[in-house]
Amino acid sequence: MTTYEMLIGGEWTKASPRKTFDVFDPATGKVIAKVPEASPADVDRAVKAARAAFDGGWRDATAQERGRILFRLAQKMRDELPRLAELETRNSGKPIVESEYDLTDVATCFEYYGGLATKLHGEVLPVPDNAVSLALREPLGVAGQIIPWNYPLLMAAWKLAPAICAGCSMVIKPAEQTPLSLLEFARFFEECGLPKGVVNVVTGFGPTGAALVAHGDVDKVAFTGSMEVGKIIMKSAAATLKKVSLELGGKSPNIFFADADFEAAVDGALFGVFINQGEVCSAGSRVLIQRPIYKKMLDAMVEKARTIKLGSGLDRETKMGPVVSKEQMARILKYQRIGKGEAKVAVGGGRATGKGLDKGYFVQPTIFYDVNNSARIAREEIFGPVMSVIPFDDEAEALKIANDTPYGLAAAVWSRDIFKCFRVVKRLQAGIVWVNHMQPTYVEAPWGGYKMSGVGRELGPWGAEEYMQIKQVHINLNESPIGWY
Ligand code: NDP
Repeated sequence: MTTYEMLIGGEWTKASPRKTFDVFDPATGKVIAKVPEASPADVDRAVKAARAAFDGGWRDATAQERGRILFRLAQKMRDELPRLAELETRNSGKPIVESEYDLTDVATCFEYYGGLATKLHGEVLPVPDNAVSLALREPLGVAGQIIPWNYPLLMAAWKLAPAICAGCSMVIKPAEQTPLSLLEFARFFEECGLPKGVVNVVTGFGPTGAALVAHGDVDKVAFTGSMEVGKIIMKSAAATLKKVSLELGGKSPNIFFADADFEAAVDGALFGVFINQGEVCSAGSRVLIQRPIYKKMLDAMVEKARTIKLGSGLDRETKMGPVVSKEQMARILKYQRIGKGEAKVAVGGGRATGKGLDKGYFVQPTIFYDVNNSARIAREEIFGPVMSVIPFDDEAEALKIANDTPYGLAAAVWSRDIFKCFRVVKRLQAGIVWVNHMQPTYVEAPWGGYKMSGVGRELGPWGAEEYMQIKQVHINLNESPIGWY
């Protein structure tokens, strides 16, 4: 078992006081590592280190230098991918094939922002005077970044890469359940050229994150996690009027019209909510099916869902691993019980047991049908492999149900009629809409939610913009006095 330290100011350090906490393998329930529990004093040390790095030269690093560092991080990620993917699976439970996809995306994310670093620029504005008016883009300063447990290293990369690209320094806190892949990857920061203190990693629980958000010298907070904690963060950040970006998950509708390609529809509905054990912010957890294909599609989904192979994520045949923690398993089992009182169970509905499963946090892929959109299983984010199937008659009803949620992260629509698809796309209140697909995510494209699914956007140039501020500069070209007095 490894005992980890945190990275503050380029030095590996214990927490003060020297507290640690256990990190588990969710497939076995065994402790696999110990990591420091950062106190508010540690968070303060990390913020000071980030500030010192920013003021001590990082703010003046050239775009080319920042870009090269990002490319080196990308290459390092590719070199270390097999080892880190295995660790990601061991710590989060997800199937190894999914970890490999995730970490390839981590490398791509660093590469994208490596290229973008030299393309960020300001503007010259045509003002009606003998003057040059400029809008300069400058880094915001010190960023606090709080990461969830569902895509540990990928969500970290979505925040680290644009912040480095923009020229910020940062303090990043992984989720208490899944800190290991980031701590391992952080060993390479210096070798890849990151000056000491530009990226600091602190580990701990909610209060560690809260200390980061409340800190007076943090200029911006980027958070991915639950809506509840998102609200707390926004409130806390208001005291110092920090910039905030929030990515808060959803209850995304996956809409199937009767004229959709049937086989693709069945696959798309299952993939949409069962990938990564359903622990996906954009999970298509509400499956809306038009009545003419409702029964046939439900039956086909159930048949396929029964074949999903559960097991250790390290087994290449596994299609669904354990959920991340005992607490998350309890949460999902609670919703499965609630669902049984609200709708009908087509498949699953409990804990998964059997050879190799009993000690881990495995839950059955579950499909509820004839769900009313007002049911709790259709309104609340479960964050597990639980699908709620809802029938509809026509386009108008599908849209009404789809948009009847406080969330607005993602949505998908399936039909062979492109005109109908686009009518629906325009009316869906969601930040991400897929047509005849579910879940593809590209670093080039914006990621973020409408309504209560979030504030701001990650990825693409939008992601870097979140770490920058704009300075207006006026250069007077008249050599004579203003002449007012
Ligand atoms: P949280 O929102 O509680 O945690 C996300 C991150 O925020 C973690 O790093 C957590 O630290 C940190 N955190 C917790 N409380 C605070 C606080 N007061 N101030 C600052 N940071 C804080 O998610 P959970 O892990 O508890 O999961 C609960 C539910 O959240 C899930 O079931 C799911 O619905 C949703 N969720 C959504 C995600 C998404 O991608 N949209 C991702 C993860 C969860 P720590 O882990 O140490 O508590």
